[in-house]
Amino acid sequence: MPRVLGERDVDKLKSYIVDLYKRFIPVKALPPDLGGRGELERARVLQEELEKLGLRVERFDASDPRAEGGVRPNLLAVLPGRDESRTLWVVAHMDTVPEGDPSLWRSNPYSVVVEGDKVYGRGVEDDGQGIVLALAAAKHLVEKGLEPRVNLGIALVSDEEAGSRYGLIYLLEKGAFGPPETDWFLVPDAGSPDGSKVIVAEKHIAWIRVTVRGRQAHASMPHTGLNAHRLGMMFSLELDRLLHERFTRYDERFEPPVSTFEPTRKEENVGNINTIPGVDTVYWDMRILPSYSLEEVLDTVRAVAYSFSAKTGAGVEVEPVALDEAGEPTRTDSVFVKGFLEAIREARGVEPKPVGIGGGTVARYLRRHGYQAIVWMTCDETAHQPNEYTRLSYVLADVDTLLHYLLNKA
Ligand SMILES: [Zn+2]
Repeated sequence: MPRVLGERDVDKLKSYIVDLYKRFIPVKALPPDLGGRGELERARVLQEELEKLGLRVERFDASDPRAEGGVRPNLLAVLPGRDESRTLWVVAHMDTVPEGDPSLWRSNPYSVVVEGDKVYGRGVEDDGQGIVLALAAAKHLVEKGLEPRVNLGIALVSDEEAGSRYGLIYLLEKGAFGPPETDWFLVPDAGSPDGSKVIVAEKHIAWIRVTVRGRQAHASMPHTGLNAHRLGMMFSLELDRLLHERFTRYDERFEPPVSTFEPTRKEENVGNINTIPGVDTVYWDMRILPSYSLEEVLDTVRAVAYSFSAKTGAGVEVEPVALDEAGEPTRTDSVFVKGFLEAIREARGVEPKPVGIGGGTVARYLRRHGYQAIVWMTCDETAHQPNEYTRLSYVLADVDTLLHYLLNKA
């Protein structure tokens, strides 16, 4: 049973959502990093739509010579609330990943196909669902003349799929939002089929490269060399053991509830079997609970490298490839988040489950700037897959929850 929307509202919004999808999904928005021309054309369609709803829209263009028009557009629109000093921002990204192998699709990925409750197309879930959620909620408020308790901010951003440098990170650096005391964020870009999963935290991510140097030699004369491959394996095992012994904190909010340390990629060494390799290079993917600092983990890796080097005579070099700080977890008892969890509980009849994940959402950039941010929507998680779809019933349930928050809980 919807909380805010009546039967006729549901019917009206359903056709609005389908029409809206049909207007912007066919307008491709692939980032240049993924072989596309950027988001400008799609942003124009969406800006027009926001203006049609009577919202104030501001465009923030990040310069990118590779993209159409030389820019990566970001749209900020505001529907004023009764208390104009506070804003809930709904952040959705306009860019998508490519469709992949077209033969795996049952329909054209760029023409929206509706089958019963399901809507198919590249980007209908990731993150078209966030876009239609925000616009449908705004449309309902405007058409019914309802005033939300706080401002509804809509941020349609570029460049989420390839790093956010021209998208949310750009906006944060420009100071486009209000301070963390007044502004908070809903990121509808991941979730669960019953709408209970609310992502409130992420782990730090560290990607490092470890190079072990020995001395190349003929394989029949090992005593004349120093086998970097063997030493590399020994070092990997030693590091693996030590990291898992030292960083043992358990946080049940996270899935999985521990820090993870995985050796992953390995670089090719010698091209022939009868040569003892002189260099061994391995990469690690580490996801670290935010109660640790990235620095203390890296210090541990460096200390193990130092003692291994002293013990074996091999050179061990540790280089960060990418370090991504998680920021403080979002507090579920903060006044913003508490109200939204209540809205989920009341509008959906499910108990919201705040969780932490290994990383990968834009909420980490927001948290790093001190903002409260949750990642939430209702979906079957079909992002990046062929035959990506969402359900109209999911979108409408999310619109109802968002409206319940804005009208009754904020
Ligand atoms: Zn996404």
